[in-house]
Amino acid sequence: MEQAEIRVQLDAISHNVQELKGRTTADVMAVVKGDGYGHGMVPAARAAIAGGATWLGACTLDEAMTLRAAGFTGPVLAWLLAPGLQLQDGVASDVDLSTGTRGGLTEIIAAAKAVGRPARVHLKIDTGLTRGGSARDDWPDLVDDAAKAAADGTITVVGIWSHFANADVLGHPANASQRAAFAEALDVAERHGVTPQFRHLANSAATLSRADSHFDLVRPGIAIYGLSPFGPGGERFGLVPAMSVRATVLLAKRVPAGQGISYGHTYRTGQRTTVAVVPLGYADGIMRSASNRGPVSLGGRLRRIAGRVCMDQIVVDCGDDAVTAGDVAVLIGSGRGEPTADDWAEACGTINYEIVTRMGSARIPRVYEGGGPEDPPGRGRVSP
Ligand SMILES: *Cc1c(COP(=O)(O)O)cnc(C)c1O
Repeated sequence: MEQAEIRVQLDAISHNVQELKGRTTADVMAVVKGDGYGHGMVPAARAAIAGGATWLGACTLDEAMTLRAAGFTGPVLAWLLAPGLQLQDGVASDVDLSTGTRGGLTEIIAAAKAVGRPARVHLKIDTGLTRGGSARDDWPDLVDDAAKAAADGTITVVGIWSHFANADVLGHPANASQRAAFAEALDVAERHGVTPQFRHLANSAATLSRADSHFDLVRPGIAIYGLSPFGPGGERFGLVPAMSVRATVLLAKRVPAGQGISYGHTYRTGQRTTVAVVPLGYADGIMRSASNRGPVSLGGRLRRIAGRVCMDQIVVDCGDDAVTAGDVAVLIGSGRGEPTADDWAEACGTINYEIVTRMGSARIPRVYEGGGPEDPPGRGRVSP
């Protein structure tokens, strides 16, 4: 094993997509932004497609272009495009582009004309998240512009879409009102002659809990990595976590009672004890807020980080247990005696999304296990 490593079970990702597909008649867009929530964007995408996803959700155009360069030829949606961004490559590569503003649509139209190829467009309506997307008052003008550009063949309106604010809270009244606002926006678009093939609204939480939000396409992210959008203690839905994180103990030593540990001495040993040093820190995506809280399984027991998380190291108080250099510390594991991403999220006051995305996108090498023909089982490979 590496000094520290992330193992990603590609078969788990494929399995999770299959589970989601079993819950909907809509097509599945696997959301692989943020380096596949820390699991590695391209391998995660490959595994998701093996599990039956037909779309990829990429957030930035860079991410979408990386997927194209890796050989994905199916639909890929990029939805976070700043004004002035060069869109020609995206249009030329058939990347689906989202906009919620007339200015954004004008830029897509200009790129399509420059390339000489119709741009594939998804129009985003803000139904209540109040983040991206068209304000309701601006929507008729936006769909009108889109209808004109579609009529002259400059663009194809592939989708109309929106995003929930509270899908992870079952029965939250905002979910019903957002769905109603979405239906209303679809009606307005239809009256302007815009009837796209793909209407999409559901993230993981809505895919798992609100069939009335599935429409033609669902956009699960966290669930394809096997984590629940509903947080600790929520239903598991047959999902299997794909990521585990391990590191080798650098050294273990006996220290006296009353000894301060790590920067600031925010932890003091209660008695003479063995401390173990683990080579992971905030440069590896370990939250500094895990200081004195983050769970680590070591020597067959669940323990907590002692003292502050440093840039490259953490210390674990192992009492009188026989922990030695070379032992393996599990930071994210099975949940059966080993911590989970949800345990880390609780310890750090955050959500499992942030835990895996940070740990997976920093310095720790990733090793892939399982996967399809392009990823022979058992051939552990470290990502570039
Ligand atoms: C991240 C994201 C998703 C996926 O959300 P999950 O909660 O991870 O399922 C879907 N749609 C959009 C627009 C997103 O930004």
